[in-house]
Amino acid sequence: MPQIAIIGSGFAGLGLGIQLKRQGIDTFTIFEKADEVGGTWRANTYPGAECDIPSALYSYSFENFDWPNKWSHQPVIKAYLEHCADTYHLRPHLRFGSTVTAARFDEDAGAWDVDVGGGDVDGGETHRFDIVVSATGQLSRPRWPDIDGLDSFDGPVFHSAEWDHDVDLTGKHVASIGCGASAIQYVPQIAKDAAKVTVFQRTPNWVIPKNDRDYSDFENGLIRRSRMARNLRRFGLWFRSDVVAYDLMRKESRIRPLAQKLSKKHLHDTISDPATRAALTPEYPMGAKRVLFSDDFYESIEEFDVTIQSDPISKVTGDAIVTTTRSESGDGNSTDHDVDVIVVGTGFHTQDFLTPMQVTGVDGRDLNDEWAATDGQGGPQAHLGISVNGFPNLFFMYGPNTNLGHSSIVLMIESQARYLLSLFHQMARDSIQAVEVRAEVQQAYNDELADRLADSAWVLIEDSWYLQGGKVTNNWVGRTTEYRRRTNHADLADFHVTPRALPTAG
Ligand code: NAP
Repeated sequence: MPQIAIIGSGFAGLGLGIQLKRQGIDTFTIFEKADEVGGTWRANTYPGAECDIPSALYSYSFENFDWPNKWSHQPVIKAYLEHCADTYHLRPHLRFGSTVTAARFDEDAGAWDVDVGGGDVDGGETHRFDIVVSATGQLSRPRWPDIDGLDSFDGPVFHSAEWDHDVDLTGKHVASIGCGASAIQYVPQIAKDAAKVTVFQRTPNWVIPKNDRDYSDFENGLIRRSRMARNLRRFGLWFRSDVVAYDLMRKESRIRPLAQKLSKKHLHDTISDPATRAALTPEYPMGAKRVLFSDDFYESIEEFDVTIQSDPISKVTGDAIVTTTRSESGDGNSTDHDVDVIVVGTGFHTQDFLTPMQVTGVDGRDLNDEWAATDGQGGPQAHLGISVNGFPNLFFMYGPNTNLGHSSIVLMIESQARYLLSLFHQMARDSIQAVEVRAEVQQAYNDELADRLADSAWVLIEDSWYLQGGKVTNNWVGRTTEYRRRTNHADLADFHVTPRALPTAG
């Protein structure tokens, strides 16, 4: 079996490691920059962090857990991933405190030299692997807004993905810059203790109630004992996401009018102040950006001192966030909002699939350069989101065009692990040293994606984290079942194949 380096120990890296172990393959190392497994579920510890996909679907199909409620909170999901690492004996393969900084393909050897630094690794090390799998996720690099004066604010400022738990928010006026999936989870929690919360919102989003509930001991017992009950529960959740919710991801959606009506009704039923209601009413078609699920965001605005501020932020001073009303003449009125703490909930660098890694393939080709977008052209792309021409034996999990707006990413990750296992087995069986996806295969696949994505909801707006220069670089276009079918088996005909060199006699 080839020697395999896996970068990252979130759902994707662990998921591949588990499948390798289940098939008796031990020749792999998982490099993790942090000191524990979990990826995004280790890093995001903000108050109220939870998953907006039900856990029975947002989990590996083969490993159940006693989920306390339908939509699990971050500590439970992190505990699940640690449980998986232990259960499948991945600990001996994990190298914590190890940041992969660069990888270079050696064409003569048909293998990768992987530079590892940071944490426990003094001065850096280089290791040789036949295969490198990048499983670093799309939501691991916090994005800070470019706001004049933000770094001169006198009080605490931190990003939602790097929550500073030493800052006591009790009795403080807390600002949230951003009102996305993370903010609508932490705002209701911090509002309970803060004197006041002001949410600086650029774009109002569609919010749908979660209707969360606890699972009873009886339900969990039944799920533990009965595979049929487990599969039925998963099937029900899959059906609602991949069959019903998927329709919202289409440009012409049949369920959009009804879904928007229900979301607006929820807004009207919960928020009593007409001005706040107007500020929270989205103007873009539902599905064009991530739909938000919450049972307590609107409710917290009614119950606590939470204000939605929609005027754009013009600057930050030592003790205030300054907003300026929109004005065509450019002389809008400014208001100083005195705040004590600023929480930055502005999301992630979702298109830097590799940063800060430098990846060099055949003929010195640099993958960061190849994936850079110029004038709306180019941008990250791969075959099936997994392999890239010019970069043999380098594979991605949760790579370009594999994110979902409607269902569980773990379904995609399991498909990618299955595909990679199929490829690795064929490489071992046929004594293949390296495989490189053919340029024409990658091009045909991406041409097809571009055609189909033109009919997706994501092109109905100009900007979101799914888009780069107007091109959808992050999302998969179909249902999870189509992706699973297309990744069920790796076809060697899609690749240039380099046989392993025979040992020389004597
Ligand atoms: P996000 O969805 O990208 O939201 C960022 C927010 O910050 C938006 O309100 C955005 O406004 C605002 N913003 C960005 N730059 C700004 C600026 N310069 N000035 C003012 N406002 C600015 O980020 P997120 O909330 O961290 O969530 C990111 C993704 O993580 C989600 O889409 C979701 O896929 C995932 N997530 C999942 C869960 C889960 O339950 N599974 C939980 C949290 C996050 P605009 O909308 O105008 O750009």
